[in-house]
Amino acid sequence: MKLDILAFGAHPDDVELGCGATIAKEIANGKKVGVIDLTRGELGTRGSADIRDIEAANAGKILGVSVRENLAFADGFFLNDKEHQLEIIKMVRKYQPDVVLCNAIDDRHIDHGKGSKLVSDACFLSGLLKIETKIENTVQEKWRPKQVYHYIQWKNIEPDFVVDVSNFIEKKTEAILAYTSQFYDPKSNEPETPITSRNFIDSVNYRARDLGRLIGVEYAEGFTTERFVAVDSLDDLI
Ligand SMILES: [Zn+2]
Repeated sequence: MKLDILAFGAHPDDVELGCGATIAKEIANGKKVGVIDLTRGELGTRGSADIRDIEAANAGKILGVSVRENLAFADGFFLNDKEHQLEIIKMVRKYQPDVVLCNAIDDRHIDHGKGSKLVSDACFLSGLLKIETKIENTVQEKWRPKQVYHYIQWKNIEPDFVVDVSNFIEKKTEAILAYTSQFYDPKSNEPETPITSRNFIDSVNYRARDLGRLIGVEYAEGFTTERFVAVDSLDDLI
């Protein structure tokens, strides 16, 4: 199945937090979107890999994604090496996305910057004819996405462009709240972490609100690019 957009996240919930509203908007506009989680988030302080599998499936359904897969890399310890790049290349060639979304280029959690570079490098390598990959015993065709964009996570990174997601922030919030084990829950007896605070979950909303303020809409999500943003016409900018 060819997808228009393939979103990668180091952990289940990264995609929802970073670009859930943009994905919901693209799907509403008829795009086919898939999500690939690199790890099962087994090192997360709260919940467990099994719980997070269920939460990720529920969140994906809420957003309306066409596919969601988990590569089960080692949380915290996966590397940007040939073995891991080949696994990503297989996914890129399998789904042939025009646009790839991936983790923030630099962040508090080491897996985010690492996952970002891993996916970006694999997207380049995926376009090289002489790298042979097989899926279900069939040799895959080379494929390089037209664009790789990085969403923004914990750290405040200046976006290169922002997407107006005013009508989709509620859908994003609903998808995030599908991860019931992970975020602010006054009834939880599990240990506190930076992402279980009330302030963190509020920050996802207030960053979107602030980016929206800066472009004159209610809510926006920001992304960084690896090269200049090109337009056909000056009218393309809103
Ligand atoms: Zn993460």
